[in-house]
Amino acid sequence: MLEPLMRANIGRLQTVYDRLPSPARTLITSARGWFLSRIRYAPETFSFLEQLRAHETWTPEDIASFQIHALQETISHARAAVPYYADYPQTQIRNFESLRLLPVITRERVRENREHFLSRDILPHQRIVAGTTGTTGGNLKVAYTEKLARENWAFLLRQRAWAGVNPRQPRITFLGARVVPTTRSTPPYWTYNLPECQVLFSIFHLSENTAPHYIKCLREHQGVVLEGFPSVLSILADLILSHGQTIPMRAVFTTGEPLYSAARDKIESAFLAHTFDSYGMTEYCGLIQQCEEGEMHLAPEYGFLEILDENNDPVAGDAEGYFVWTGFLNRAMPLLRYRIGDRGRWKLGPPCQCGRAFPRVTPTITRESEILRCADGRIFSPRALNQYLKAATSLRFCQFVHDRSERVVVRAVAGNGRAAQEMMNIREELQHLLGASMRVTAEIATEPLVFPGGKTPLIVNRVTQ
Ligand SMILES: [Zn+2]
Repeated sequence: MLEPLMRANIGRLQTVYDRLPSPARTLITSARGWFLSRIRYAPETFSFLEQLRAHETWTPEDIASFQIHALQETISHARAAVPYYADYPQTQIRNFESLRLLPVITRERVRENREHFLSRDILPHQRIVAGTTGTTGGNLKVAYTEKLARENWAFLLRQRAWAGVNPRQPRITFLGARVVPTTRSTPPYWTYNLPECQVLFSIFHLSENTAPHYIKCLREHQGVVLEGFPSVLSILADLILSHGQTIPMRAVFTTGEPLYSAARDKIESAFLAHTFDSYGMTEYCGLIQQCEEGEMHLAPEYGFLEILDENNDPVAGDAEGYFVWTGFLNRAMPLLRYRIGDRGRWKLGPPCQCGRAFPRVTPTITRESEILRCADGRIFSPRALNQYLKAATSLRFCQFVHDRSERVVVRAVAGNGRAAQEMMNIREELQHLLGASMRVTAEIATEPLVFPGGKTPLIVNRVTQ
Protein backbone atom coordinates (compact mmCIF):
# COMPACT_ATOMS: atom_id res chain seq x y z
CA MET A 1 0.00 0.00 0.00
CA LEU A 2 3.02 2.30 -0.02
CA GLU A 3 3.06 2.85 -3.75
CA PRO A 4 -0.18 4.94 -3.80
CA LEU A 5 1.30 7.15 -1.06
CA MET A 6 4.64 7.43 -2.82
CA ARG A 7 3.08 8.37 -6.15
CA ALA A 8 0.82 10.95 -4.52
CA ASN A 9 3.77 12.74 -2.90
CA ILE A 10 6.34 12.44 -5.62
CA GLY A 11 6.57 16.22 -6.23
CA ARG A 12 7.35 16.98 -2.60
CA LEU A 13 9.78 14.07 -2.31
CA GLN A 14 11.61 15.28 -5.43
CA THR A 15 12.45 18.61 -3.74
CA VAL A 16 13.97 16.84 -0.75
CA TYR A 17 15.76 14.33 -2.99
CA ASP A 18 17.37 17.08 -5.09
CA ARG A 19 19.01 18.61 -2.02
CA LEU A 20 20.74 15.38 -0.99
CA PRO A 21 24.35 14.43 -1.80
CA SER A 22 24.91 11.69 -4.38
CA PRO A 23 25.35 8.70 -1.96
CA ALA A 24 22.11 9.64 -0.19
CA ARG A 25 20.33 9.77 -3.57
CA THR A 26 21.52 6.21 -4.23
CA LEU A 27 20.16 5.21 -0.83
CA ILE A 28 16.74 6.75 -1.60
CA THR A 29 16.66 5.31 -5.14
CA SER A 30 17.55 1.90 -3.73
CA ALA A 31 14.89 2.13 -1.02
CA ARG A 32 12.28 2.94 -3.66
CA GLY A 33 13.74 0.18 -5.85
CA TRP A 34 13.33 -2.26 -2.98
CA PHE A 35 9.64 -1.38 -2.57
CA LEU A 36 9.05 -1.57 -6.31
CA SER A 37 10.89 -4.88 -6.58
CA ARG A 38 8.53 -6.34 -3.96
CA ILE A 39 5.69 -5.54 -6.37
CA ARG A 40 7.59 -6.41 -9.55
CA TYR A 41 9.06 -9.73 -8.42
CA ALA A 42 6.21 -10.93 -6.20
CA PRO A 43 5.26 -14.64 -6.49
CA GLU A 44 1.99 -13.52 -8.17
CA THR A 45 4.02 -11.81 -10.92
CA PHE A 46 5.83 -15.02 -11.74
CA SER A 47 2.72 -17.20 -11.71
CA PHE A 48 1.04 -14.67 -14.03
CA LEU A 49 4.16 -14.68 -16.23
CA GLU A 50 3.95 -18.47 -16.43
CA GLN A 51 0.37 -18.18 -17.71
CA LEU A 52 1.40 -15.53 -20.21
CA ARG A 53 4.18 -17.72 -21.56
CA ALA A 54 1.74 -20.62 -21.98
CA HIS A 55 -0.50 -18.33 -24.09
CA GLU A 56 2.26 -18.04 -26.69
CA THR A 57 1.05 -21.30 -28.26
CA TRP A 58 -2.54 -20.00 -28.65
CA THR A 59 -4.21 -20.39 -32.04
CA PRO A 60 -6.16 -17.46 -33.54
CA GLU A 61 -9.35 -19.21 -32.30
CA ASP A 62 -7.97 -19.44 -28.74
CA ILE A 63 -7.18 -15.72 -28.86
CA ALA A 64 -10.64 -14.79 -30.13
CA SER A 65 -12.42 -16.85 -27.49
CA PHE A 66 -10.24 -15.42 -24.70
CA GLN A 67 -10.89 -11.86 -25.88
CA ILE A 68 -14.66 -12.28 -26.21
CA HIS A 69 -14.80 -13.63 -22.68
CA ALA A 70 -12.53 -10.85 -21.35
CA LEU A 71 -14.61 -8.17 -23.10
CA GLN A 72 -17.80 -9.51 -21.53
CA GLU A 73 -16.22 -9.56 -18.10
CA THR A 74 -14.70 -6.09 -18.46
CA ILE A 75 -17.97 -4.53 -19.63
CA SER A 76 -20.03 -6.21 -16.90
CA HIS A 77 -17.60 -5.02 -14.24
CA ALA A 78 -17.57 -1.48 -15.64
CA ARG A 79 -21.39 -1.27 -15.71
CA ALA A 80 -21.62 -2.49 -12.14
CA ALA A 81 -18.80 -0.52 -10.52
CA VAL A 82 -18.04 2.58 -12.57
CA PRO A 83 -20.50 5.52 -12.56
CA TYR A 84 -19.72 6.61 -16.13
CA TYR A 85 -20.85 3.26 -17.54
CA ALA A 86 -23.89 2.78 -15.29
CA ASP A 87 -26.28 3.68 -18.14
CA TYR A 88 -24.55 1.54 -20.73
CA PRO A 89 -26.79 -1.13 -22.29
CA GLN A 90 -26.52 -4.66 -20.98
CA THR A 91 -24.56 -6.02 -23.89
CA GLN A 92 -24.02 -9.69 -24.58
CA ILE A 93 -20.66 -9.99 -26.30
CA ARG A 94 -21.08 -12.91 -28.68
CA ASN A 95 -18.65 -11.64 -31.28
CA PHE A 96 -16.50 -8.57 -31.81
CA GLU A 97 -19.31 -6.87 -33.74
CA SER A 98 -21.43 -6.62 -30.58
CA LEU A 99 -18.82 -4.33 -29.01
CA ARG A 100 -19.78 -1.73 -31.61
CA LEU A 101 -23.06 -1.11 -29.79
CA LEU A 102 -21.06 0.82 -27.22
CA PRO A 103 -19.88 4.38 -27.90
CA VAL A 104 -16.27 5.30 -28.60
CA ILE A 105 -14.91 7.63 -25.93
CA THR A 106 -12.16 10.15 -26.55
CA ARG A 107 -9.29 11.07 -24.27
CA GLU A 108 -10.80 14.54 -23.89
CA ARG A 109 -14.06 13.02 -22.64
CA VAL A 110 -12.20 10.96 -20.03
CA ARG A 111 -10.24 14.04 -18.97
CA GLU A 112 -13.42 16.06 -18.48
CA ASN A 113 -15.27 13.31 -16.59
CA ARG A 114 -12.30 11.75 -14.88
CA GLU A 115 -13.95 11.20 -11.47
CA HIS A 116 -16.82 9.26 -13.08
CA PHE A 117 -14.40 6.76 -14.55
CA LEU A 118 -13.09 5.65 -11.15
CA SER A 119 -14.32 2.29 -10.02
CA ARG A 120 -16.20 2.16 -6.70
CA ASP A 121 -14.79 -1.24 -5.80
CA ILE A 122 -11.22 0.09 -5.50
CA LEU A 123 -10.84 2.22 -2.38
CA PRO A 124 -9.12 5.62 -2.74
CA HIS A 125 -6.10 4.52 -0.69
CA GLN A 126 -5.64 1.53 -3.00
CA ARG A 127 -5.43 3.70 -6.09
CA ILE A 128 -2.04 4.51 -7.56
CA VAL A 129 -2.33 7.73 -9.55
CA ALA A 130 -0.01 8.66 -12.41
CA GLY A 131 -0.15 11.55 -14.86
CA THR A 132 0.08 11.09 -18.59
CA THR A 133 0.40 13.73 -21.27
CA GLY A 134 -0.41 11.45 -24.22
CA THR A 135 -0.35 12.36 -27.87
CA THR A 136 -2.49 15.44 -27.61
CA GLY A 137 -0.65 17.11 -24.76
CA GLY A 138 -3.47 17.55 -22.23
CA ASN A 139 -2.78 15.83 -18.93
CA LEU A 140 -4.85 12.94 -17.65
CA LYS A 141 -4.51 11.47 -14.16
CA VAL A 142 -4.87 7.72 -14.44
CA ALA A 143 -5.67 5.45 -11.49
CA TYR A 144 -4.55 1.83 -11.29
CA THR A 145 -3.75 -0.81 -8.67
CA GLU A 146 -0.74 -2.70 -7.37
CA LYS A 147 -2.16 -5.84 -8.93
CA LEU A 148 -2.07 -4.16 -12.31
CA ALA A 149 1.50 -2.94 -11.68
CA ARG A 150 2.50 -6.58 -11.11
CA GLU A 151 0.65 -7.85 -14.17
CA ASN A 152 2.12 -5.09 -16.30
CA TRP A 153 5.60 -6.08 -15.10
CA ALA A 154 4.90 -9.71 -16.04
CA PHE A 155 4.14 -8.59 -19.62
CA LEU A 156 7.43 -6.71 -19.64
CA LEU A 157 9.22 -9.83 -18.41
CA ARG A 158 7.59 -11.92 -21.14
CA GLN A 159 9.13 -9.66 -23.77
CA ARG A 160 12.47 -9.81 -21.94
CA ALA A 161 12.23 -13.60 -22.21
CA TRP A 162 11.74 -13.27 -26.00
CA ALA A 163 15.06 -11.43 -26.00
CA GLY A 164 16.68 -14.16 -23.91
CA VAL A 165 16.93 -11.86 -20.90
CA ASN A 166 16.28 -13.08 -17.33
CA PRO A 167 13.92 -11.19 -15.00
CA ARG A 168 16.54 -9.70 -12.73
CA GLN A 169 19.29 -9.11 -15.29
CA PRO A 170 21.21 -5.89 -14.44
CA ARG A 171 20.05 -2.92 -16.48
CA ILE A 172 20.73 0.67 -17.44
CA THR A 173 17.77 3.00 -17.67
CA PHE A 174 17.23 6.24 -19.60
CA LEU A 175 13.61 7.06 -18.77
CA GLY A 176 11.95 10.19 -17.42
CA ALA A 177 12.79 10.11 -13.71
CA ARG A 178 14.69 13.15 -12.46
CA VAL A 179 17.44 11.16 -10.81
CA VAL A 180 19.95 14.02 -10.62
CA PRO A 181 19.17 17.68 -9.78
CA THR A 182 18.75 19.69 -12.97
CA THR A 183 21.28 22.31 -11.85
CA ARG A 184 24.08 19.79 -11.49
CA SER A 185 27.04 20.47 -13.79
CA THR A 186 29.52 17.81 -12.66
CA PRO A 187 29.23 14.01 -12.68
CA PRO A 188 27.69 11.71 -11.56
CA TYR A 189 24.71 12.18 -13.87
CA TRP A 190 23.31 8.87 -12.68
CA THR A 191 22.23 7.04 -9.57
CA TYR A 192 21.90 3.40 -8.53
CA ASN A 193 19.00 1.18 -7.57
CA LEU A 194 21.03 -1.53 -5.86
CA PRO A 195 18.29 -4.16 -5.21
CA GLU A 196 17.57 -4.34 -8.95
CA CYS A 197 21.21 -3.87 -10.12
CA GLN A 198 20.00 -0.87 -12.08
CA VAL A 199 21.85 2.31 -13.07
CA LEU A 200 19.44 5.18 -13.68
CA PHE A 201 20.88 7.89 -15.91
CA SER A 202 19.58 11.44 -16.16
CA ILE A 203 18.08 12.27 -19.55
CA PHE A 204 18.29 15.98 -18.71
CA HIS A 205 22.07 16.40 -18.72
CA LEU A 206 23.06 14.99 -22.12
CA SER A 207 25.41 17.23 -24.11
CA GLU A 208 28.68 17.21 -26.04
CA ASN A 209 30.38 18.30 -22.81
CA THR A 210 28.91 15.63 -20.57
CA ALA A 211 29.15 12.83 -23.18
CA PRO A 212 32.61 11.60 -22.05
CA HIS A 213 31.26 11.08 -18.50
CA TYR A 214 28.20 9.19 -19.77
CA ILE A 215 30.38 7.07 -22.05
CA LYS A 216 32.84 6.23 -19.26
CA CYS A 217 30.07 5.10 -16.89
CA LEU A 218 28.24 3.16 -19.63
CA ARG A 219 31.47 1.37 -20.50
CA GLU A 220 31.91 0.31 -16.89
CA HIS A 221 28.50 -1.39 -17.13
CA GLN A 222 28.68 -2.68 -20.70
CA GLY A 223 27.04 -5.98 -21.57
CA VAL A 224 23.88 -5.40 -19.54
CA VAL A 225 20.33 -4.58 -20.64
CA LEU A 226 19.72 -1.04 -21.85
CA GLU A 227 16.25 0.52 -21.74
CA GLY A 228 14.97 3.98 -22.55
CA PHE A 229 13.02 6.38 -24.72
CA PRO A 230 14.00 6.01 -28.41
CA SER A 231 14.78 9.72 -28.88
CA VAL A 232 17.05 9.75 -25.83
CA LEU A 233 18.90 6.55 -26.79
CA SER A 234 19.28 7.92 -30.30
CA ILE A 235 20.91 11.13 -28.99
CA LEU A 236 23.14 8.99 -26.78
CA ALA A 237 24.05 6.67 -29.67
CA ASP A 238 24.93 9.72 -31.77
CA LEU A 239 27.25 11.03 -29.08
CA ILE A 240 28.94 7.63 -28.68
CA LEU A 241 29.39 7.12 -32.44
CA SER A 242 30.70 10.67 -32.90
CA HIS A 243 33.43 9.79 -30.37
CA GLY A 244 34.31 6.89 -32.67
CA GLN A 245 33.16 4.34 -30.11
CA THR A 246 30.71 1.51 -29.56
CA ILE A 247 29.54 0.09 -26.21
CA PRO A 248 28.21 -3.47 -26.42
CA MET A 249 24.97 -4.19 -24.55
CA ARG A 250 23.01 -7.43 -24.01
CA ALA A 251 19.78 -6.11 -25.58
CA VAL A 252 18.05 -2.74 -25.94
CA PHE A 253 14.40 -2.10 -24.99
CA THR A 254 12.70 1.07 -26.16
CA THR A 255 9.32 2.46 -25.19
CA GLY A 256 7.32 5.67 -24.91
CA GLU A 257 7.73 6.96 -28.46
CA PRO A 258 7.80 5.52 -31.95
CA LEU A 259 11.14 4.01 -32.89
CA TYR A 260 12.02 5.02 -36.42
CA SER A 261 14.37 2.94 -38.53
CA ALA A 262 17.08 5.63 -38.59
CA ALA A 263 17.10 5.77 -34.78
CA ARG A 264 17.04 1.97 -34.54
CA ASP A 265 20.04 1.67 -36.88
CA LYS A 266 21.97 4.25 -34.86
CA ILE A 267 21.11 2.60 -31.53
CA GLU A 268 22.02 -0.87 -32.81
CA SER A 269 25.32 0.39 -34.26
CA ALA A 270 26.33 2.14 -31.04
CA PHE A 271 25.30 -0.68 -28.68
CA LEU A 272 25.88 -3.70 -30.95
CA ALA A 273 22.61 -5.27 -29.78
CA HIS A 274 19.09 -5.97 -31.02
CA THR A 275 16.44 -3.41 -30.17
CA PHE A 276 13.05 -4.57 -28.87
CA ASP A 277 10.46 -1.83 -29.11
CA SER A 278 7.15 -1.64 -27.31
CA TYR A 279 4.05 0.51 -27.39
CA GLY A 280 2.10 0.98 -24.18
CA MET A 281 0.43 3.79 -22.29
CA THR A 282 -0.14 5.03 -18.73
CA GLU A 283 -3.86 4.32 -19.16
CA TYR A 284 -2.86 0.63 -19.11
CA CYS A 285 -5.45 -0.45 -21.67
CA GLY A 286 -3.27 -1.99 -24.35
CA LEU A 287 0.17 -3.21 -25.22
CA ILE A 288 2.13 -3.96 -28.39
CA GLN A 289 5.56 -5.59 -28.13
CA GLN A 290 8.22 -6.49 -30.62
CA CYS A 291 9.28 -10.12 -30.87
CA GLU A 292 12.69 -11.55 -31.70
CA GLU A 293 11.72 -11.57 -35.40
CA GLY A 294 11.25 -7.80 -35.31
CA GLU A 295 7.44 -7.88 -35.57
CA MET A 296 5.15 -5.81 -33.34
CA HIS A 297 2.60 -8.10 -31.66
CA LEU A 298 -0.55 -7.11 -29.82
CA ALA A 299 -0.65 -8.65 -26.32
CA PRO A 300 -4.12 -10.24 -26.56
CA GLU A 301 -4.54 -10.67 -22.78
CA TYR A 302 -3.91 -6.99 -22.08
CA GLY A 303 -6.69 -5.36 -24.07
CA PHE A 304 -8.80 -5.44 -27.18
CA LEU A 305 -7.73 -3.23 -30.07
CA GLU A 306 -9.90 -1.77 -32.81
CA ILE A 307 -8.41 0.35 -35.56
CA LEU A 308 -11.12 2.76 -36.70
CA ASP A 309 -11.50 5.56 -39.23
CA GLU A 310 -12.78 9.12 -38.67
CA ASN A 311 -16.39 7.79 -38.49
CA ASN A 312 -15.51 5.08 -35.98
CA ASP A 313 -15.87 2.39 -38.61
CA PRO A 314 -13.23 -0.34 -38.85
CA VAL A 315 -10.54 0.46 -41.40
CA ALA A 316 -10.29 -1.74 -44.48
CA GLY A 317 -7.39 -4.20 -44.49
CA ASP A 318 -4.16 -2.58 -43.39
CA ALA A 319 -5.27 1.05 -43.80
CA GLU A 320 -4.13 3.47 -41.11
CA GLY A 321 -6.63 4.47 -38.46
CA TYR A 322 -7.15 5.44 -34.82
CA PHE A 323 -6.30 3.04 -32.03
CA VAL A 324 -9.40 2.36 -29.92
CA TRP A 325 -8.67 0.24 -26.85
CA THR A 326 -10.74 -1.72 -24.37
CA GLY A 327 -8.40 -2.61 -21.53
CA PHE A 328 -8.88 -5.89 -19.62
CA LEU A 329 -6.63 -5.25 -16.64
CA ASN A 330 -7.31 -1.88 -15.07
CA ARG A 331 -10.10 -2.44 -12.56
CA ALA A 332 -9.51 0.96 -10.90
CA MET A 333 -10.33 3.00 -14.00
CA PRO A 334 -11.69 0.81 -16.81
CA LEU A 335 -11.70 2.32 -20.29
CA LEU A 336 -14.09 0.87 -22.86
CA ARG A 337 -13.57 1.72 -26.54
CA TYR A 338 -11.08 4.43 -25.65
CA ARG A 339 -9.72 6.46 -28.56
CA ILE A 340 -6.32 7.42 -27.24
CA GLY A 341 -5.22 9.66 -30.11
CA ASP A 342 -2.46 7.41 -31.48
CA ARG A 343 -2.74 5.80 -34.88
CA GLY A 344 -1.54 2.66 -36.56
CA ARG A 345 -2.35 -0.17 -38.94
CA TRP A 346 -2.79 -3.93 -38.88
CA LYS A 347 -0.01 -5.95 -40.41
CA LEU A 348 -1.53 -8.69 -42.56
CA GLY A 349 0.08 -11.55 -44.40
CA PRO A 350 1.62 -14.87 -43.43
CA PRO A 351 2.10 -15.60 -39.71
CA CYS A 352 5.20 -14.33 -37.93
CA GLN A 353 8.27 -16.55 -38.03
CA CYS A 354 8.36 -16.48 -34.22
CA GLY A 355 5.37 -18.85 -34.22
CA ARG A 356 3.05 -16.71 -32.06
CA ALA A 357 -0.41 -16.09 -33.47
CA PHE A 358 -0.76 -12.74 -31.64
CA PRO A 359 -2.04 -10.17 -34.16
CA ARG A 360 0.54 -7.77 -35.57
CA VAL A 361 0.13 -4.01 -35.45
CA THR A 362 2.32 -1.15 -36.59
CA PRO A 363 1.90 2.00 -34.50
CA THR A 364 2.43 4.97 -36.82
CA ILE A 365 1.67 8.36 -35.36
CA THR A 366 2.29 8.99 -31.74
CA ARG A 367 3.77 12.15 -30.33
CA GLU A 368 6.52 13.21 -32.69
CA SER A 369 9.00 15.93 -32.28
CA GLU A 370 12.24 17.51 -33.01
CA ILE A 371 15.08 17.88 -30.58
CA LEU A 372 15.95 20.99 -28.58
CA ARG A 373 19.61 21.98 -28.92
CA CYS A 374 20.64 24.74 -26.53
CA ALA A 375 23.30 27.29 -27.45
CA ASP A 376 25.60 25.79 -24.77
CA GLY A 377 25.52 22.32 -26.39
CA ARG A 378 22.95 20.60 -24.21
CA ILE A 379 20.49 18.40 -26.08
CA PHE A 380 16.96 17.63 -24.89
CA SER A 381 14.73 14.96 -26.39
CA PRO A 382 10.95 15.45 -26.60
CA ARG A 383 10.62 12.83 -23.90
CA ALA A 384 12.84 14.79 -21.53
CA LEU A 385 10.71 17.91 -21.91
CA ASN A 386 7.47 15.95 -21.84
CA GLN A 387 8.13 15.23 -18.16
CA TYR A 388 7.49 18.88 -17.37
CA LEU A 389 3.90 18.66 -18.53
CA LYS A 390 2.87 15.88 -16.20
CA ALA A 391 1.67 18.08 -13.36
CA ALA A 392 -0.50 20.30 -15.57
CA THR A 393 -4.12 19.17 -15.76
CA SER A 394 -5.71 22.33 -17.23
CA LEU A 395 -3.86 22.56 -20.53
CA ARG A 396 -5.37 21.18 -23.69
CA PHE A 397 -2.06 21.34 -25.55
CA CYS A 398 1.40 22.55 -24.70
CA GLN A 399 4.33 22.91 -27.08
CA PHE A 400 7.86 24.25 -26.78
CA VAL A 401 8.80 26.58 -29.61
CA HIS A 402 12.53 27.21 -30.02
CA ASP A 403 12.21 30.38 -32.12
CA ARG A 404 15.50 32.17 -31.49
CA SER A 405 18.87 30.68 -30.63
CA GLU A 406 18.52 31.70 -26.99
CA ARG A 407 14.76 31.64 -26.52
CA VAL A 408 12.10 28.98 -26.00
CA VAL A 409 8.40 29.82 -25.86
CA VAL A 410 6.03 27.66 -23.81
CA ARG A 411 2.95 27.77 -26.01
CA ALA A 412 -0.15 26.48 -24.28
CA VAL A 413 -3.77 26.04 -25.31
CA ALA A 414 -5.91 26.53 -22.22
CA GLY A 415 -8.46 23.97 -21.11
CA ASN A 416 -9.98 25.27 -17.91
CA GLY A 417 -9.41 27.18 -14.66
CA ARG A 418 -5.79 27.00 -13.70
CA ALA A 419 -4.31 26.96 -17.21
CA ALA A 420 -2.43 30.27 -16.96
CA GLN A 421 -0.93 29.35 -13.59
CA GLU A 422 0.08 25.91 -14.79
CA MET A 423 1.65 27.34 -17.91
CA MET A 424 3.70 29.76 -15.78
CA ASN A 425 4.81 26.88 -13.55
CA ILE A 426 6.02 24.98 -16.61
CA ARG A 427 7.81 28.13 -17.83
CA GLU A 428 9.52 28.50 -14.47
CA GLU A 429 10.60 24.85 -14.30
CA LEU A 430 11.86 24.90 -17.86
CA GLN A 431 13.80 28.10 -17.17
CA HIS A 432 15.34 26.33 -14.19
CA LEU A 433 16.27 23.35 -16.36
CA LEU A 434 17.70 25.36 -19.26
CA GLY A 435 19.56 27.85 -17.05
CA ALA A 436 20.59 31.45 -17.56
CA SER A 437 21.91 31.01 -21.09
CA MET A 438 18.36 30.50 -22.40
CA ARG A 439 15.30 32.69 -21.92
CA VAL A 440 11.96 30.96 -21.51
CA THR A 441 8.74 32.88 -22.16
CA ALA A 442 5.14 31.70 -22.23
CA GLU A 443 2.03 32.46 -24.22
CA ILE A 444 -1.54 31.25 -24.36
CA ALA A 445 -2.66 30.24 -27.85
CA THR A 446 -6.06 29.27 -29.21
CA GLU A 447 -4.85 26.34 -31.32
CA PRO A 448 -1.74 24.16 -31.27
CA LEU A 449 0.83 24.45 -34.06
CA VAL A 450 -0.13 21.64 -36.43
CA PHE A 451 2.31 20.38 -39.06
CA PRO A 452 1.53 18.94 -42.47
CA GLY A 453 0.15 15.45 -42.01
CA GLY A 454 -1.66 16.51 -38.84
CA LYS A 455 1.27 16.17 -36.46
CA THR A 456 1.44 18.38 -33.40
CA PRO A 457 5.07 18.11 -32.30
CA LEU A 458 6.00 18.82 -28.71
CA ILE A 459 9.15 20.70 -29.70
CA VAL A 460 8.97 23.05 -32.66
CA ASN A 461 12.40 24.09 -33.87
CA ARG A 462 12.61 27.31 -35.86
CA VAL A 463 16.30 27.95 -35.37
CA THR A 464 18.75 27.03 -38.10
CA GLN A 465 21.57 25.07 -36.48
ZN1 LIG B 1 6.73 -12.57 -33.94
